[in-house]
Amino acid sequence: MKFNIAPLGFSNDPLLRKLILTLSPLFQDIKVFYPLIDVEMAYSLERRQYNSTKILEQVIRNEPSSDAYMMILTELDLFVPVLTHIFGEAQLKGNHSIVSICRLYEEFYTSESNPELLFERAMKEILHELGHNFGLIHCIDWDCVMHVSNAVEEIDIKGRYYCSFCLNELKENSIPIKEFFKW
Ligand SMILES: [Zn+2]
Ligand SMILES: [Zn+2]
Repeated sequence: MKFNIAPLGFSNDPLLRKLILTLSPLFQDIKVFYPLIDVEMAYSLERRQYNSTKILEQVIRNEPSSDAYMMILTELDLFVPVLTHIFGEAQLKGNHSIVSICRLYEEFYTSESNPELLFERAMKEILHELGHNFGLIHCIDWDCVMHVSNAVEEIDIKGRYYCSFCLNELKENSIPIKEFFKW
């Protein structure tokens, strides 16, 4: 499996390096790729946020990726019309996804910096959105990274990896994912 990470409005290079290093046992190849996207077309003046579906659609159109998973990683605050915010969005059984770390920063809530917590939250949301690309839907098991998270506390509570049920689904979908991935 190949994985392209596409930073978009993303300046946290130490975090990017750590994520790539940690995810590398899961993929044959991880590349950083800079997409040509006009994010302003996704900006809502009213909400002061970016419509994630519009960004995702543009990436799918401009950067079709048939042989690799491609994830936009951003610090922009994302929304979809029915929700106040979202942490990410992905094509179910597709190759494209987007994750925002804007609301994963502890500073967003408490004004205290916590890079380790930011890393943990980002890893969980990346594995979650990739899970959708792999064909997984939301899981009821709180110990599973595929549990849905609408608030950051829910990210902190849920597990760090796919549960045995989800791992089994991945096997059935012929996704070559490591069963025992420790991070
Ligand atoms: Zn989800
Ligand atoms: Zn699960």
